[in-house]
Amino acid sequence: MSTQTKQMSLSEIRDLATKTLMAHGCDTQNAGAVADIITKAEGDGCHSHGLMRLPGYVATLKSGKVNGKARPTIRKLAPAVVQVNGHNGFAPYALQEGRAHLIEAVKTCGIAAMPLIGIHHFAALWTEVEPVAEAGLVGFACTSYKPAVIPAGGTQALYGTNPIAFGWPRNGNPPMVFDQASSVMARGEVMLAAREGHALPEGVGVDAAGNPTTDPDEVLNGALLAFGGHKGSSIAMMVELLAGGLIGESFSFEAAARDNGDGGPPQGGEFMFAIDPNLMGNAGGWADHAEKLFDKIQGQDGARLPGQRRHTNRTQSAKSGVAVSNVVLEKIAAL
Ligand code: NDP
Repeated sequence: MSTQTKQMSLSEIRDLATKTLMAHGCDTQNAGAVADIITKAEGDGCHSHGLMRLPGYVATLKSGKVNGKARPTIRKLAPAVVQVNGHNGFAPYALQEGRAHLIEAVKTCGIAAMPLIGIHHFAALWTEVEPVAEAGLVGFACTSYKPAVIPAGGTQALYGTNPIAFGWPRNGNPPMVFDQASSVMARGEVMLAAREGHALPEGVGVDAAGNPTTDPDEVLNGALLAFGGHKGSSIAMMVELLAGGLIGESFSFEAAARDNGDGGPPQGGEFMFAIDPNLMGNAGGWADHAEKLFDKIQGQDGARLPGQRRHTNRTQSAKSGVAVSNVVLEKIAAL
């Protein structure tokens, strides 16, 4: 398998993503929102959610599953609940449109939620909580997908890889953001290993017959395991409940049942909430107090804050661009 790459600047990556999406039916707003998060993913070294996803986005436009010209609408269900309906569009544009309303509600109420319905989600979640944390708020987001993860003790994939992301604002530093799938490994990382011909570590997943395997192609045809056994399994279940049942959207198994199998993201939901740390009773102290914890973590040899790897990549890619896989570029050219 080719491992050759082409060095591209972030603006070249954004242009390629925008033009490709517009050539397949997206308008400028939808294409721009998706291209932004693809570019951010490439810039931060999260290649599993960068240009590699473009063929999947295009597949949904070609099949007619996603409306590339969708206009999200906002409905205030309560003073602290901002519902965004993506009307069958891609999640990034719906998130972009809803964010300012969420932030405004949080600044008034101290805490507010943003359920998103009618969206197609295929992105890295840190791109969504980071802007909320940059606005000075604590943020949380989670979304489901299609069945890919076996409930602890079970035999059949039922949960999506169901990521959760959490952002914490910091004075004078980029926010601390962690973003993790509730499977041992995100499916995008397994796809990356399959593309590059790497074996997976033990304990990531099983083949279609339920036998443990380190072959990424077999895991893609089989199922992933939840991280931490029953503990990750419960977190995956929580995500199904928050991003599905709670907000009137589908569970992963329901999203899969109505999906057309075009290879792109199914239609589903996402749940976000945010908190104003200045309205929780410790306005003068929360920021410095958190820094004491972060100092203790970073004071240990080998320990680091989540997000640090991305920030290092971000600094580097802004200067010298990103090495993009030629295999990915060939797939995009073939579109
Ligand atoms: P990783 O396991 O690579 O990383 C999870 C988190 O842990 C990151 O915030 C990472 O920060 C942090 N981290 C990693 N190593 C350390 C360490 N040694 N010390 C402290 N923190 C650390 O991510 P996943 O493979 O679980 O997920 C990858 C992506 O896939 C996510 O962005 C997720 O949103 C996305 N995804 C999207 C789905 C969708 O349906 N849209 C479904 C499932 C996943 P850092 O980045 O700095 O390494």
